[in-house]
Amino acid sequence: MWGWILDCMSTTERPRILVVGGGYVGLYAARRILKKMRYGEATVTVVDPRSYMTYQPFLPEAAAGSISPRHVVVPLRRVLPKAEVLTGRVTTIDQDRKVATVAPLVGDAYELPFDYLVVAMGAVSRTFPIPGLAENGIGMKGIEEAIGLRNHVLEQLDKADSTTDEEVRRKALTFVFIGGGFAGAETVGEVEDMARDAAKYYKNVKREDMRFLLVDVADKILPEVGPKLGAYGKEHLESRGVEVYLKTGMKSCVDGHVVLDNGLEVLSNTIVWTAGVKPNPALSRFGLPLGPRGHIDAEPTLQVKGTDYIWAAGDNAQVPDMVGRRNGNENAWCPPNAQHALRQAKVLGDNVVSGMRGFPQKEYSHANKGAVAGLGLHKGVAMIVMGKMKIKLKGRLAWYMHRAYHGMAMPTFNRKIRVFADWTLATFLKREVVSLGAMENPREEFYEAAKPAPAPAAAADGGKPKAKAS
Ligand SMILES: Cc1cc2nc3c(=O)[nH]c(=O)nc-3n(C[C@H](O)[C@H](O)[C@H](O)COP(=O)(O)OP(=O)(O)OC[C@H]3O[C@@H](n4cnc5c(N)ncnc54)[C@H](O)[C@@H]3O)c2cc1C
Repeated sequence: MWGWILDCMSTTERPRILVVGGGYVGLYAARRILKKMRYGEATVTVVDPRSYMTYQPFLPEAAAGSISPRHVVVPLRRVLPKAEVLTGRVTTIDQDRKVATVAPLVGDAYELPFDYLVVAMGAVSRTFPIPGLAENGIGMKGIEEAIGLRNHVLEQLDKADSTTDEEVRRKALTFVFIGGGFAGAETVGEVEDMARDAAKYYKNVKREDMRFLLVDVADKILPEVGPKLGAYGKEHLESRGVEVYLKTGMKSCVDGHVVLDNGLEVLSNTIVWTAGVKPNPALSRFGLPLGPRGHIDAEPTLQVKGTDYIWAAGDNAQVPDMVGRRNGNENAWCPPNAQHALRQAKVLGDNVVSGMRGFPQKEYSHANKGAVAGLGLHKGVAMIVMGKMKIKLKGRLAWYMHRAYHGMAMPTFNRKIRVFADWTLATFLKREVVSLGAMENPREEFYEAAKPAPAPAAAADGGKPKAKAS
């Protein structure tokens, strides 16, 4: 009891390490700091608008129902029991006073003092002012979007199965994906696979009735795995009936009327936007040095340029790629991916503890280990880098590599087991193809049942509202 009271009293005197963002970098950096720190050396506070970290590489599989959405997220309070976890958004940083402003989920914003700061707010979807995009586009950055996409796609099959209107049916069965990087190619691959599976249970919908379009302004898809495997990925998707349009952009999509700049026009209820990411725009209010594309300018030690108490890593930072630079490319930067985010977080965590103790900082350096991408059940591409050798795999073997790599990379033993259990169950019990569209508005039915009955006069005239007497 006394120990606990003393502990609480001393909490205020401890320096605070404030971690802004509980995603890949935030979670791993906080864990590393807590592991390396002496008992009571500092208070670690993690602030994130979500109470969980999302393992984004599994979003396409969550959208396709191969993994339960709950298993793709890691509850921050559970994995960081020794940290103070606050659910809210950091809106500004005052460097002179070393104070952050936190806007919690409810109530007024408040100030939070800190001694050391880690900025790990990741990226947001990169969009363009395309007419209709904001109203009709579906993003792919969070678990909510993955669940929404899955329900939405299955609902389109329900609609198409039950309508007699040919235009409604065609619009429901046309699925457009903009952006052919990891997120877009994997999502179209997984969703096409799921829709093909689901069609077996519909009397009036066959795979041939559906249209899948993958559109990219670049001249290739999956640039992360290199040109040859990217070309294979494209051919593979085309062999499954996906129409791939390269060097093509979307001009507009007002009311689901999609117009591409190659002249093609289609009607679609499903426009998935995965055309890249940009650093979190909230960074512009932090007063930190930013690079030309809005990333925080970080040293190889992950310290923010010109500071010795602020660190940044992951998708919101531009971190010099020291391996590329040693090999003669003076402008090499680490690409924004999970491979770097995870490793940067560990070095960052060590450097925060060293900084607190007045020890020197370590430089971050990591040679690319390759990339793996899943394109649906038993389909994928993988490029494994071993020294100077690049091993290229495709098909089932690449898909196994994809599952093995991401299954092992999934944070926490608990989540790894759940993900492997989902995969095993899906092998024996087949994929779940039910749409829970009502999840978006779960109170609607209850409201209809519980709302006050209209007055008798109003009921007689169909419940039309009367003009108010003046
Ligand atoms: C669909 C998809 C598939 C992907 N597949 C792969 C893959 O196969 N391989 C790979 O290497 N990479 C992949 N990536 C990229 C990888 O997931 C990211 O590079 C990685 O998540 C970056 O980590 P981060 O910590 O910088 O950002 P994030 O993990 O995005 O975390 C940022 C956190 O900051 C929080 N935040 C935002 N604003 C605030 C604020 N104002 N205050 C406090 N907190 C805030 C967010 O809620 C979030 O939790 C994929 C990404 C996507 C979207």
